[in-house]
Amino acid sequence: MLQLLTKNINIQKIRGCASAGVIMSVNNSLYLGPILAFGSEKQKELFINPFTDGSKVGCFALSEPGNGSDAGAASTTARHKNPGWILNGTKSWITNGYESEATIVFATTDKAKKHKGISSFLVNKPIKGLSLGKKENKLGIRGSSTCNLIFEDCEIPEENLVGQPGLGFKIAMMTLDSGRIGIAAQALGIAQASLDCAVEYASKRSAFGAPISKLQSIQNKIADMALKIESSRLLTWRAAALKDEGNKYTKEAAMAKLSASETATFVSHQCIQILGGMGYVNDMPAERHYRDARITEIYEGTSEIQRLVISANVLKEYGF
Ligand SMILES: Cc1cc2nc3c(=O)[nH]c(=O)nc-3n(C[C@H](O)[C@H](O)[C@H](O)COP(=O)(O)OP(=O)(O)OC[C@H]3O[C@@H](n4cnc5c(N)ncnc54)[C@H](O)[C@@H]3O)c2cc1C
Repeated sequence: MLQLLTKNINIQKIRGCASAGVIMSVNNSLYLGPILAFGSEKQKELFINPFTDGSKVGCFALSEPGNGSDAGAASTTARHKNPGWILNGTKSWITNGYESEATIVFATTDKAKKHKGISSFLVNKPIKGLSLGKKENKLGIRGSSTCNLIFEDCEIPEENLVGQPGLGFKIAMMTLDSGRIGIAAQALGIAQASLDCAVEYASKRSAFGAPISKLQSIQNKIADMALKIESSRLLTWRAAALKDEGNKYTKEAAMAKLSASETATFVSHQCIQILGGMGYVNDMPAERHYRDARITEIYEGTSEIQRLVISANVLKEYGF
C-alpha cells in the first residue's frame, strides 16, 4: 500500500480492480495462510519465502467438478507410495491456476473416513503428471486466470504432506474462514469504487436544468449505497480484528463476506442505474464493477453457505 502511495498511483482506481484483489487474496490467504499455520519449517522455507514479494504466486485447490459447496466429498486421491504420494483427480475453478508455481491440494487418503480422510499437500508447478484445463471464459474478474488442475499419477515427495494425514478438511475450513475476510475486502473495493463512480457522475450530469445529484431519488440511492458499504466495512474490520487478536472469527468472517458481497452486487447495480446509458457501456467502469461483483457471492462459500455457517454458530451460542 505504501509503495502504491509513494508511486503516486490512484488508490481510488486500484481498489476497484477485483482481479488484482483475488489474485492477491488467494496467494496470501488461501495459499500462504495454511502453510504458515500448519507447515513444517522446511515447507515454510520452500513454499512461503519465494511467494511473498510478488515474484511467484500460489493457488489453492479444493473444489472439484463434482463438488464445490460439499468440499468434504473430495474424489481426488493421494496414495501413499512410501516414500512419497501419488495424486489422481481433477480440481476445478482454480484461481491463479495458470500462473501459479505451487499449489496446496486437498485429496482423500482414506475414503472410509469421509471428510476426516482428507489430507493436504504442497505441489510445485510445473510437475510431471499435472496438466492444466482450458482458461475459463468468465463474466467478471477476467484479469484473473481460472482453470482445472488435472492430476494423473502425479508423484510428490513424502515431506509435502501438510500437517497430519486426515487434517486436510480442517485445514481447508480454517483457511476459508480467513479467506472470507479477504473476499469481503475485495467486495468492499468493488462497492466503494462503484459509489465513487456514481457520486462523481451524478454531480456532473445534468437533467431538467440541474445536476442529477439534486434529485431526491438519486440521493436516496446514494444513501442506501453508502449505508451498506459502511455496515459491511465495519463487519469486515471486526472479523479482521478478531483474527488478529487470535480469537474465534468463523461467524464474523461469514457475516463480513455475506454482507460485503451482497453490498457489492447492490451498489454496482445502483451505480449503473445512476449512470443511465453510460452505466451500460465499457467507456465507464460501472459495468465492469457489476460483472466483477457477482463472483464474490459465489467463491469461498456461496451466500447460501455463509447463511448456514452464521445460523449454525448463532444456534450454538443459544445452546442448540
Ligand atoms: C471464478 C471462480 C474462481 C474460483 N476459485 C477457486 C479456487 O481458487 N479454489 C477452489 O478450490 N475453488 C474455487 N472456486 C470454486 C468455488 O469455491 C465454488 O464454485 C463454490 O464453492 C460453489 O461450488 P459449486 O460451483 O460446485 O456450486 P454447488 O455447490 O453445486 O452449489 C450450487 C447451488 O446450490 C447451493 N447449495 C449447495 N449446497 C447447499 C446447501 N447445503 N444449502 C443451501 N444451498 C446449497 C449453492 O449455494 C448454489 O447456489 C472458484 C469458482 C469460480 C467461479
